[in-house]
Amino acid sequence: MCGIVGILGTPHASQEVYQALLMLQHRGQDSAGILSVDSDTGKFHLHKSLGHVSAAFTQNDLKKLTGMSAIGHTRYSTIGEVKEADLQPMALSLPVGVGMVHNGNLSNYAELRQTLVAKNRMFMSDNDLEIILQLMAESIGANTSKSDTQFQKIAKSVQDIFSAAEGGYSVVGLLGSEGMFAFRDPHGIRPLILGSRLESNGKSSYCLTSETCALKFLGYQYERDIGPGELIWIDRQQNVQSVKLTKKTALPCMFEWVYFSSADSTLETKNVYEVRLKLGLLLGKRLQPLASQFDFVAPVPDTSRPSAIGLAEQLKIPFREILIKNRYVQRSFILNGQDVRRLAVNMKFSVVDSLVKGKNVLLVDDSIVRGTTSKKLIDLLKQNGAAKVYLASTCPPIVNPCYYGIDFPSREELIASKQNTGEVANSLGADGVFYSNLQELTEALDGISFCKACLNGEYAYPVRERPPTERVSL
Ligand code: SF4
Repeated sequence: MCGIVGILGTPHASQEVYQALLMLQHRGQDSAGILSVDSDTGKFHLHKSLGHVSAAFTQNDLKKLTGMSAIGHTRYSTIGEVKEADLQPMALSLPVGVGMVHNGNLSNYAELRQTLVAKNRMFMSDNDLEIILQLMAESIGANTSKSDTQFQKIAKSVQDIFSAAEGGYSVVGLLGSEGMFAFRDPHGIRPLILGSRLESNGKSSYCLTSETCALKFLGYQYERDIGPGELIWIDRQQNVQSVKLTKKTALPCMFEWVYFSSADSTLETKNVYEVRLKLGLLLGKRLQPLASQFDFVAPVPDTSRPSAIGLAEQLKIPFREILIKNRYVQRSFILNGQDVRRLAVNMKFSVVDSLVKGKNVLLVDDSIVRGTTSKKLIDLLKQNGAAKVYLASTCPPIVNPCYYGIDFPSREELIASKQNTGEVANSLGADGVFYSNLQELTEALDGISFCKACLNGEYAYPVRERPPTERVSL
């Protein structure tokens, strides 16, 4: 999973992209990058580096990223080591100058790469974005005519990308200094949002990004979510054109609301905090007969706080914060490798032991993926004197891998894929485990058709396993 942003129409484009990346930092902490373009010369300026956004750029780096348009990326690698070659943005100069950032995964990456290599295309990285770039370069060179407008050229090219590339992906790109384009995969699995801001010269500047939290921070008005299979083109005169290129079912990823997005973001008109709160209320309704077993409800900070509040409200028992998070350690889910994850849990939380001693705790987490973090936290609470620890997950059991950009790499690593609820509780050392069910998730997302392939195995595209060594994410 990654955070992406593109800004056009302000002399401070790269500074604003930098600020937006800070707001999207929760979507990836491995690396960050910005590509800007000078309107007069068409020259690209690129800076990308490993590490958090604040560490990746100095003020001097930002000063060199001149121009009225810029795109940026903050990255989380789902598999394998973090390599400089895989960092975004990426750019190609032939047959046209094009730079891109993206969020997601191509599920048919291996076949597409083989096909392109057979046509003598060269690859510098193992990143899915390079496939999209190559597909665009191939298509723009071959299929467009001189009389086509820039928008028509891009539309033909994106249509070709949609025909070839399966998976979940949102892309923002620069076509030289001509303008900025963005598109969302045919099922709209990964998010992409448009905002605008009226400038003092009477024109609007535009921001395309993964989440509304970045728009709000920069003073852009939310315009709309880009639709599944939709392309948007904003030229250098700030004219906006858009077209829907496919007609497939919308399947936004449910995990954006459950775990990934910032609580203050709104996706598909559903506020993330409110969805989490509702998940807690609905699960609390089902657990009502058990309410007397718990002394209080406690969240695993920070994602599950709204759900824990909803649960406590519904069960009419106290809400307590007993786990204190060290904010300077990365989210364990995002770290690479099981050992690093275990270490991260140790460093990340401490316990308010006076609240916990002798109590029966209903701990609430957004999800149980591998179970590593949950087991460690339950151990930690018991070491600090908790009498009983029950665990509630507001995501239903995750039993299948995700091929569209979330790190659920294999069934073997997903604890719920091989154990029933009682066995999961035993493995985690919990006195009971409670999951939200699909019906409650559907009710919380009220009216949205969403991707739930990791829960029920109904994938949007035929599953093609990708060799782990070749799989790099976004
Ligand atoms: S499989 Fe699960 S995690 Fe992956 S896109 Fe679908 S809902 Fe999201």
